[in-house]
Amino acid sequence: DLKMHFRTRGEGLIGRADHRIRAVDGVSLQLREGETLGLVGESGCGKTTTGRLITRLLEPTGGQILYQGTDIAHLKERELRPYRRELQLIFQDPYSSLNPRHTVGTIVGTALRVHDIVPRGKELARVQELLEVVGLNPEHYNRYPHEFSGGQRQRIGIARALAARPKVIVADEPVSALDVSIQAQVMNLLEDLRKEFGIAFIFIAHDLGVVRHFCDRVAVMYLGRVAEIGDRDGIYGTPRHPYTQALLSAVPDVGVVRGTPPKARIRLVGDVPSPVDPPSGCRFHSRCWKAEEICSTSSPALLEKAPGQLAACHFAEPQPAVQDPVA
Ligand code: SF4
Repeated sequence: DLKMHFRTRGEGLIGRADHRIRAVDGVSLQLREGETLGLVGESGCGKTTTGRLITRLLEPTGGQILYQGTDIAHLKERELRPYRRELQLIFQDPYSSLNPRHTVGTIVGTALRVHDIVPRGKELARVQELLEVVGLNPEHYNRYPHEFSGGQRQRIGIARALAARPKVIVADEPVSALDVSIQAQVMNLLEDLRKEFGIAFIFIAHDLGVVRHFCDRVAVMYLGRVAEIGDRDGIYGTPRHPYTQALLSAVPDVGVVRGTPPKARIRLVGDVPSPVDPPSGCRFHSRCWKAEEICSTSSPALLEKAPGQLAACHFAEPQPAVQDPVA
């Protein structure tokens, strides 16, 4: 039941106004040891904020973050230190997430020093080892970020995260700022690291195609809440929430056999409502083609609709919708 409400003040039409942006508003999900959970949804659905809460870059305004049984949601900085080491974040933008005035050796070495990972004097050797693990030349430890390409910079960010020997990595759209040709290389690297070190990943993305290949389970978020969560095969094979069905219908079919009809696209009407004043009842009701009267008054709970698959919908059905509601 994790919550992050940001308070903002601004000039309204009738003077100054206080707003509460409900960026994350009652998210519940579970990450198992060594698994990869994809967190998907449109921009502004709260997935990045959720990732920052889990790694405690932000302190939530409500709810719990249970890590191996300990609630770390409101721990002070000193108490957080061991958890900071085990919960690492890879940022979306490899251009702004590395200090341009520090060499790669300093960037990765600082993570080793802060978390007391290797004895003094052994840092350089470990930095070079880490550079090799992520596919960079270990002799380039004294170069600066601008001397590397985008894909290489993301590898530096990954080496920095690995330096702390984490158990969990939250990867926030780690390839979306990269060229398509480089994306696969970085994804393969993350997959290799997961297998080699048994790290659990929360993989934040808006590209459902990428998530399908990389994740064991998938959580679909809409307007600060989880709409559906389940095993990959269930989510992609028999999505139960209308929003998941709409997102999946928008993923292009690559390699469709000639002669087979293309799948029907579900076009959502309207924009995502504002998280300042979300719709009553089901948050998706203003855009949902299956909405009934109850949907605008009663908020559906996230309930198990099939083994391992939970959806927050009064009318969750296993079959993907095949009609184009606009056509
Ligand atoms: Fe649509 Fe109603 Fe289900 Fe919400 S509860 S997703 S509005 S059918």
